[in-house]
Amino acid sequence: MGGQTSIREGLITFLISSFLIVSLFAYSFFNIVSENRQLKEELSSFTAKEEMKTSESLEEEISNIYILLEGQSSHIRTIMNMAIRNNHYETPHSAEHHGVSCPECLAIYQEVVKTTPNLPGYNGEHFNKFYRLPVKEAIKNAN
Ligand SMILES: [Zn+2]
Repeated sequence: MGGQTSIREGLITFLISSFLIVSLFAYSFFNIVSENRQLKEELSSFTAKEEMKTSESLEEEISNIYILLEGQSSHIRTIMNMAIRNNHYETPHSAEHHGVSCPECLAIYQEVVKTTPNLPGYNGEHFNKFYRLPVKEAIKNAN
């Protein structure tokens, strides 16, 4: 009888311990899965935030680069105007004063306007106001 009891007790102990082990596995598996899900959610929100931050800073950087280029093109236009003016007096051109009123200078400015594409922002407004429109007006008046 004692042997049967100990076998039964052993079996029960074995069943209980295996049940505990299986439950423990199930519990840890559940935890791992839910932790994994939480991590994934956290990671995805973090990635979205990081992407937003990156794209914002990228736009800012590109806009800053464009501001630098605007300054540089303004500087280049100043040098170009000086070169056209020097060319007017050194050649010399037929008109008394340099600028779009002089046919030879107008030909140079016309080439500049033709080769310059439409520019966005302040740079484009400035170019249209001081180059594109005066050249257009001068050509209209000449004809
Ligand atoms: Zn000229």
